[in-house]
Amino acid sequence: MGDIALPRFAFRYNKFLTKTVTSRFMAYDIVIGLEIHVQLNTQSKLFSTSPTKFGADPNTQANIIDLAMPGVLPVLNKEAVKKAVIFGFAINATVAKKSVFDRKNYFYPDSPKGYQISQLEYPIVKNGSIDIDLESGSTKSIYIERAHLEEDAGKSLHEDFAGMSGIDLNRAGTPLIEIVTGPVMNNAKEAVAYMKKIHALVRYLGISDANMQEGSFRCDANVSIKPQGSERLGTRTEIKNLNSFRFIEMAINYEVERQIDIVESGKAVVQETRLYDPENDETRSMRSKEEANDYRYFPDPDLAPVILTDEYLDNVCAQMPELQDIKIKRYQQEFKIKKADALLLVETFETASYFEAAVKASDDSKITANWMISDLLPTLREKNLDIRRSPIDSEAFSALIKRIKDGTISGKAGKTVFSVLWEEGGDIDDIIKTKGLVQISDVGELSAIVDEMLASNPDQAEDFKKGNQKIMAFFVGKMMKKTQGKANPKMVNELIRKKLLG
Ligand code: ADP
Ligand code: MG
Repeated sequence: MGDIALPRFAFRYNKFLTKTVTSRFMAYDIVIGLEIHVQLNTQSKLFSTSPTKFGADPNTQANIIDLAMPGVLPVLNKEAVKKAVIFGFAINATVAKKSVFDRKNYFYPDSPKGYQISQLEYPIVKNGSIDIDLESGSTKSIYIERAHLEEDAGKSLHEDFAGMSGIDLNRAGTPLIEIVTGPVMNNAKEAVAYMKKIHALVRYLGISDANMQEGSFRCDANVSIKPQGSERLGTRTEIKNLNSFRFIEMAINYEVERQIDIVESGKAVVQETRLYDPENDETRSMRSKEEANDYRYFPDPDLAPVILTDEYLDNVCAQMPELQDIKIKRYQQEFKIKKADALLLVETFETASYFEAAVKASDDSKITANWMISDLLPTLREKNLDIRRSPIDSEAFSALIKRIKDGTISGKAGKTVFSVLWEEGGDIDDIIKTKGLVQISDVGELSAIVDEMLASNPDQAEDFKKGNQKIMAFFVGKMMKKTQGKANPKMVNELIRKKLLG
């Protein structure tokens, strides 16, 4: 190729969009496949009765099975299987009637058995997909090759012990599903959108708390580049253990840059495992393919294949909740609310149920949606409360919506009632009465106050008559002040117009 000026790597992120170079160049496609590890929120571990709670003192939640004492036998946790099946249905996948547990052999102190129990040839879930929203507004279906059940490892503790490492086996044996996509994503933004979608889905399904700080939701990103349009995939690197949406985006972008630089300088990308270092915003080699373990997988002789009957599958299928994507569409049609709002209301299954119950009782989807989005949900978030623990239940909430809708109180007074309900609870009409919040909607009474207000602001009244519409906000403000926020703003508006404009 000759020396021509063209936008270099136009597909790369914004800072490069305008950059041009006059050297030999090539354009590249980015290819990304993600492996997400999701901790299932079962009470006990995948093969033992130890609890799985986060944050307990080291080794207080590890029994003889987790410690790999000689002669112990694993017993499969039915709940974990069910949660994996629920996930399979939710991504429209094939749920295998027969899946098999394998031993993945490696030695590391955080795994006393010397192997991890996983599923290689026969995963419980395969061939699914999920739609992600692209920035362009269109959607893209992301192919999910498989989701298999496996156990988590323990943790090595490197602080606290000078010259030694501590081992905490509390996490050893915690059930995971590992969700593996095909090499189907083409930029970091898509990878983030996919990760967010899976994060929201597992939380919605109630199969994981997906807490990223606590490690319940972790992602490995496989990244490669290839000449634009080429059929053959390039050599990939795998970036391990990304536990934030921001890091995954930064790590992928860094890695793409690094690979392009390698190829541009005439060298070849080496297949290897890398770690992302957020402090320096770079990835570093962890181990290359040559050093990679040979896991010597084989079926675990202590565990029978998992056989799921049609009856079992039908039963789980019948318990599936209406999925988020479908709910969002229904909310747009049935409740006439915006997609962005619907998205917030279906964040968890419980949030959606709360919303629907409140709409049913108040008979107003718009006010309910607005008050949930701008008041209830932010307050819950601020107090770090699950909606199931909301001090205002859907019944009390809908009572508030009703009083706003029928004009008993203004939106402003509604905020006061909301705080009282939140802090003290109580009957909505009692609160309105004792706090003196009943809206003034009596024409005679309001008219007199409007007259008074206009009389003391003659200049503004003149201006308004001359066509300065903006003064209305000033008038309404004055009226609210005079009535401690109790004037019905709609009536105030009408009265002022009538009095000044005739
Ligand atoms: P392994 O289990 O050894 O990590 P897999 O073949 O199961 O390897 O792939 C793991 C992940 O890597 C999958 O998400 C897959 O889509 C992705 N992947 C495989 N090849 C490539 C490639 N050339 N570029 C980007 N991602 C890839
Ligand atoms: Mg891998």
